[in-house]
Amino acid sequence: MAAEVLAAGGVSVDLFDAMPSVGRKFLLAGKGGLNLTHGEPFDRFVQRYGARRSEIEPLLAAFGPTELRAWAQGLGIETFVGSSGRVFPADLKAAPLLRAWLHRLRSSGVRLHMRHRWLGWAASDAAGQRLRFATPQGESLVDADAVVLALGGASWSRLGSDGAWVAPLAARGVSIAPLQPSNCGFHVARPAADGTLAAGWSEHFRTRFAGAPLKNVALALDGDGAEHKQSGEFVVTESGVEGSLVYALSAAARERIARDGRATLRLDLLPAYEAEQVRAEVARPRGSRSLGTHLKSRLGLGGVKAALLYELLPRHVIDDAAALAAAIKALPMTLSQARPIDEAISTAGGVRFEALRSGLMLDAVPGVFCAGEMLDWEAPTGGYLLTACFASGVAAALGARHFLQ
Ligand SMILES: Cc1cc2nc3c(=O)[nH]c(=O)nc-3n(C[C@H](O)[C@H](O)[C@H](O)COP(=O)(O)OP(=O)(O)OC[C@H]3O[C@@H](n4cnc5c(N)ncnc54)[C@H](O)[C@@H]3O)c2cc1C
Repeated sequence: MAAEVLAAGGVSVDLFDAMPSVGRKFLLAGKGGLNLTHGEPFDRFVQRYGARRSEIEPLLAAFGPTELRAWAQGLGIETFVGSSGRVFPADLKAAPLLRAWLHRLRSSGVRLHMRHRWLGWAASDAAGQRLRFATPQGESLVDADAVVLALGGASWSRLGSDGAWVAPLAARGVSIAPLQPSNCGFHVARPAADGTLAAGWSEHFRTRFAGAPLKNVALALDGDGAEHKQSGEFVVTESGVEGSLVYALSAAARERIARDGRATLRLDLLPAYEAEQVRAEVARPRGSRSLGTHLKSRLGLGGVKAALLYELLPRHVIDDAAALAAAIKALPMTLSQARPIDEAISTAGGVRFEALRSGLMLDAVPGVFCAGEMLDWEAPTGGYLLTACFASGVAAALGARHFLQ
């Protein structure tokens, strides 16, 4: 996006990427339908950037969801708003968009240099920027009047973004918040018989339910008010949980783990039922029927949902109708650790906004601009990630153009 805006402004642009082709993570996002942005009102949209809202909002005000959809349309890609409010290309694919985009970039004179891994700066770079690249032909030096870095976070490193840029930037005095997983899965810890916490699921639960989805449930972080409760679905993994509902809470859970060593979620297995309704149904006499059959027939609670109750609750709670009913509406589930950053959908941390001047230029290295996921912000899934990446690409390009002028 930065290359496009600069080229459109008459700037001669060379685009380097370590990989054999560009946009590999963009193409991967296409496997999930390419959720480009979100259709909700702007004031709600900008809240998704949490603590970084004040830094991201001006970027989105200049190039936000509406502009992004118009931009895609300009490339011949119509978009639609799905039932969840998420915006996708009509064909739910990334490749046609990327193809059309690359064609337009090349036509506007952008030169693409693949298999060029940026290593940092050459020692003698007093005038302008002398960039060092590792290429299949050996190291090469490139002089530039201005540089936009858009090197991504540190997840899915096999697609190119490995976070190796931290070292050369830190060496130049750029302040960087540690890179951390965001929109990620977590390991769970379950209560053991002796009252301590044991790592992961029991063998019994894991072998039967790893991969099972929990649909129509709600989650909140323990201690957060009801207004923080979010509905959706997630998936049981070999050692914990992942999926959109878990991702939505991942930033808060990660911070809670950093503070307390663990984060407890409250899982509402029946969000459509009032607590009182659940209490009445659980307490209803069940005669000779087993508790499992009772829960299934009265509340439709079976499969992985019912199994989770047995997995996470001590026997005395299972045997107490009122306590069990309360747990069905707020089952405590302990997260012990985030899954590794390489598996995450996105990366938190990165170049701090405090290290940037207006136009996203590095204070420590004038003439160098930063955009995308390498900046220190995070957002949930829902199209918020790509939208802010595009918006910051536009802003960095405008900053670079201003600098060049
Ligand atoms: C499975 C998955 C699904 C996703 N789906 C969505 C979605 O539907 N909607 C959404 O909004 N977001 C989604 N995302 C997130 C989104 O893809 C990223 O936030 C976005 O691609 C980040 O863009 P970026 O340009 O900042 O970084 P990247 O897309 O990671 O690009 C960085 C580029 O820099 C190159 N690079 C890195 N280091 C160097 C170096 N030293 N020298 C040269 N080149 C280098 C890399 O090769 C790469 O091409 C998804 C992510 C994943 C993992």
